[in-house]
Amino acid sequence: RIIYVNGRYLPYHDAKVHVEDRGFQLADAVYEVIEVSDNSLVDATRHLTRLWRSLSELSISPPMSEPALCHVMGQTIRRNRVRNGLVYLQVSRGESPRDFLFPDPPVPPTLVCLARATIPAQVDQRAETGIHIITMPETRWKRCDIKTVMLLPACLAKQQAHAQSASEAWFVDAEGLITEGASSNAWIVDRSGRLLTRPLDNTILPGITRRTVMDTAASLGLVVEESPFTVAEALDAAEAFITSATNTVMPVIMIDGQRISSGTPGPLCRQLRRSFARVAEHSPVG
Ligand code: PLP
Repeated sequence: RIIYVNGRYLPYHDAKVHVEDRGFQLADAVYEVIEVSDNSLVDATRHLTRLWRSLSELSISPPMSEPALCHVMGQTIRRNRVRNGLVYLQVSRGESPRDFLFPDPPVPPTLVCLARATIPAQVDQRAETGIHIITMPETRWKRCDIKTVMLLPACLAKQQAHAQSASEAWFVDAEGLITEGASSNAWIVDRSGRLLTRPLDNTILPGITRRTVMDTAASLGLVVEESPFTVAEALDAAEAFITSATNTVMPVIMIDGQRISSGTPGPLCRQLRRSFARVAEHSPVG
């Protein structure tokens, strides 16, 4: 495998950043994950817009222009012969002796890009059966709208889910409302067929797939309400699902060991999953 690190395409074992990189010592870094489907980047425009916003919220300067970054992604994908998979971008504030304060004068940001093949979303067997999830108290900070590499609460949540034979965890806030998954946005379909997902604020990541699923729902004439829901409402829902770039739309059939409705992927969820690719932007790998 070939990995891009700060201007160079390096063999896997040579792809290294300095121990005093602020991403390593302080989690002072942001990232993006973009799906590669059939030699195209899915929703790249929206992902790059969000990356620029994350950088701006943390006052990290963009490592290069957007077209240049697209070129790096294209090169990384092609050099690894990835046709279906994902591309991972990470930008840290750079390498500097450990200090809480930002380096002054600023240092060049560190840019890493890697690509790897995954099972294409269309043939992911888990979508046929649906996944199990658990819920747990929210433990993350109050700026979940920024896509930072500060992912320890998500690691702990995923590990706990795994220990309970589930594949995702939904965080629950102090009011008993679900915020989102450890690495996905949370959705339910209520008994009158309305799609519910939490409105955007500092408690969740503005998921790109969430946004495109809203467009997909509109194209199918489905009603989406951006309103929060409780665990009890989720357990009583007609359908539940998660959205993320790597899963697109993934049905949830069990929450905390309780079956959702009939315990099989719901019809609206399946419809959204089928129609997603028609609505999402596909840009050929450059
Ligand atoms: N929420 C969190 C906390 C995430 O980490 C992710 C993706 O990794 C998402 C939501 C889904 O975002 P997207 O659809 O942009 O992949």
